[in-house]
Amino acid sequence: MKQSARQVRADGSSIGFVPTMGALHAGHLSLVRSALAECHPVIASIFVNPTQFGPHEDFQKYPRTMEADSQQLEDAGVDYLFAPDALEMYPRGFRTWVNVEGLSECLEGRVRQGHFRGVTTVVLKLLEIVQPQKAYFGRKDAQQGRIIQQMARDLHLDSEIVVCPIVREPDGLAMSSRNVYLNSDERRAATILFRALDGARASIAHGERDALRIKAAIREMLRAEPLAEPEYAELVDAETLESVTRLRRACLALVAVRIGRVRLIDNLLIEERDGAFLTKL
Ligand code: AMP
Repeated sequence: MKQSARQVRADGSSIGFVPTMGALHAGHLSLVRSALAECHPVIASIFVNPTQFGPHEDFQKYPRTMEADSQQLEDAGVDYLFAPDALEMYPRGFRTWVNVEGLSECLEGRVRQGHFRGVTTVVLKLLEIVQPQKAYFGRKDAQQGRIIQQMARDLHLDSEIVVCPIVREPDGLAMSSRNVYLNSDERRAATILFRALDGARASIAHGERDALRIKAAIREMLRAEPLAEPEYAELVDAETLESVTRLRRACLALVAVRIGRVRLIDNLLIEERDGAFLTKL
């Protein structure tokens, strides 16, 4: 992969890169489309990264659908697929870790300790191998996107980190490789994340600016779904990921919920433009 990427760069081409863990869905393919619109060639990776899974998480049973994935990527027009195995990425004696301090310990990082250390380490390695002009990530994982942007800035990486919109099912559920774990009752209940954030969006549209009240309303909606066990619902500054008490510049309302054995996350982006607050689900 390094050799191919080096050759491509020598031709003056600008590489677009889409890292994934496979089990591809329309969310991943939207990143591919953004990359294809701006770069040539486009390289995708599929690597279920063991170091970002906790000891009691679903690494072993994470869905793996390599053949269907590679067909989808080819049909979409991706030029190269990089699918290393774990020993290639983490040979015996591997010792170097990357950690973005201050952004990695809160929210997802509090529940999934060590998760972001695994993410930033593997993403840095992938960016180093491919050295793309632009790398594409989804806002579905908003904290991850923010952390990777910080890493790119702090380490003077040449790759621009692009964060793309969330792709949803028709009923609002954010697409995720883990949605296949949901049974039909759980699948219905899973829309509660979207509905709670959509409620927040409506209240902001009606002029609500008090972050504590918005957060309380989100929590109340999550609690009302009997199959949902809320883990957190927070309203934070999109840059620092610190809690806010009033809406300002750019904020994120982030939720994590357990439904059965499945953990789901979602978020609402709230941005101030000329004194008005615009929301993106
Ligand atoms: P994953 O394979 O889950 O690690 O995701 C690979 C990339 O796809 C990450 O940048 C995710 O944020 C992004 N992604 C996953 N689900 C969605 C979605 N529903 N909409 C947009 N991007 C997504």
